[in-house]
Amino acid sequence: MLQALSRGFFHTLARSTTLKKLASRYGLRRHDSFARRFIAGETVDEAIAAARAVERRGLQVTLDCLGESVATLDEATAATKVYLEVIARVAASDVGRNLSLKLTQLGLALDRATCTDNLRRILDAAQPRDFFIRVDMEGSQYTESTLALFERVWDLGYRNLGAVLQAYLRRSEDDLDRLVGLGARVRLVKGAYQEPRSIAYHKTSDVDAAFIRMMQALLERGVYPAIATHDDALIDETRRFAAERSVAPDRFEFQMLFGVRRDLQHRLAQHGYRCRIYIPFGREWFPYFMRRLGERPENVAFVMKAILRDRDAAS
Ligand SMILES: Cc1cc2nc3c(=O)[nH]c(=O)nc-3n(C[C@H](O)[C@H](O)[C@H](O)COP(=O)(O)OP(=O)(O)OC[C@H]3O[C@@H](n4cnc5c(N)ncnc54)[C@H](O)[C@@H]3O)c2cc1C
Repeated sequence: MLQALSRGFFHTLARSTTLKKLASRYGLRRHDSFARRFIAGETVDEAIAAARAVERRGLQVTLDCLGESVATLDEATAATKVYLEVIARVAASDVGRNLSLKLTQLGLALDRATCTDNLRRILDAAQPRDFFIRVDMEGSQYTESTLALFERVWDLGYRNLGAVLQAYLRRSEDDLDRLVGLGARVRLVKGAYQEPRSIAYHKTSDVDAAFIRMMQALLERGVYPAIATHDDALIDETRRFAAERSVAPDRFEFQMLFGVRRDLQHRLAQHGYRCRIYIPFGREWFPYFMRRLGERPENVAFVMKAILRDRDAAS
C-alpha cells in the first residue's frame, strides 16, 4: 500500500497552506516527534547544537534555515534578515561556516531584482567571515531563473557561492558545462521535485545513468564538487571512478541529509572521505518534510506509528 503513495501525493500535501500552518504550530514541539528525525529544531541554537554533534562524528555541516516560495516581498526581506542573523550567530559559534538557501525564500518568484539584492546582502555579510553559501535548486519553473541569477552575482565578482544541479532534468548536463565554465562549485543531486516526462527522466536507471555521467564530468573538470546522495551504488561508483582517475579524496565531498543513512555517513568518514551533512532547521519545515516522506513512502509507517502513539498517550 505504501509503495502506491506516489511522490505526487506528498508534493500536493506539501503545497497545502492549512497543513503547513498546523504543522508549523505543533509539529516540532515534542522532542520525539517524527519530523525531528529530519529537522534539527526550530531555532538557530538547536541547529548549532545539532551541527556540533555532527562535527564531533568527524563530518562537516551546511545549515539550512527552512523556507521557500514566500508570498510577499516583506517576507523575502524578513527571510534575508533571518539569514543575516544566522551568519552572525554561526560566526560567533565554533561550527562550520557553510549555509544553504533557496532563492524563492528571497523573493525569486516575485521580483528578480529584489531577490538579487537580498542574495547580495547575504553574500556581503558572508564573504568577510569566510562563509560558503550554497544556492539550492528548486522545481523546474525556477531552474533557468536560479542559474541566471547565480551567473549575475558571479559576474559581479562574488565567489563564495555554489549551485546545485539535478540529474533527473534532461537539461542539466548542458547546465553543468555552463557552471563548470564559470569555475563554480556544483552540488549534484538526483532531484526532489515532481517533474513532467518531457523535461525529466522518470526511469530510475535513466536518472542513475545521468547522475554517473555528471559525477564523472564534475570529478574530472569541476571545482571541488559535492556528490549528494545516499545511494550506495552511486557512492561506490564515485569512489571507484575517483580512484581510477587519481582524484584525491580532498578534491570533492559527499553530502547527505540530516537523519538519513547515518551508518553510511560514518563509514565514509572512517574511510577518509569528506562528508557534509545538510542540517535543516526553522519553523517552515513542512514542505521539506513532505519531500523527505515522498522519497521513501516507508517513512509514512513511522509517522503513523508516532501519531497512534501520541493518541494512545493522550487517551
Ligand atoms: C545534501 C543534499 C542536498 C540536496 N539538495 C537538493 C536540492 O537543492 N534540490 C533538489 O531537488 N534536491 C536536493 N536534494 C535531494 C535529492 O534530490 C534527492 O531527492 C534525495 O537525496 C534522495 O535521493 P538519493 O540520491 O539519496 O537516492 P534514493 O534512491 O532516493 O535513496 C537511496 C537510499 O537512501 C535512503 N534514503 C533516501 N532518502 C531517504 C529519506 N527521505 N528517508 C529515509 N531514507 C532515505 C534509503 O535507504 C534509499 O534506499 C539534496 C540531497 C542531499 C543529500
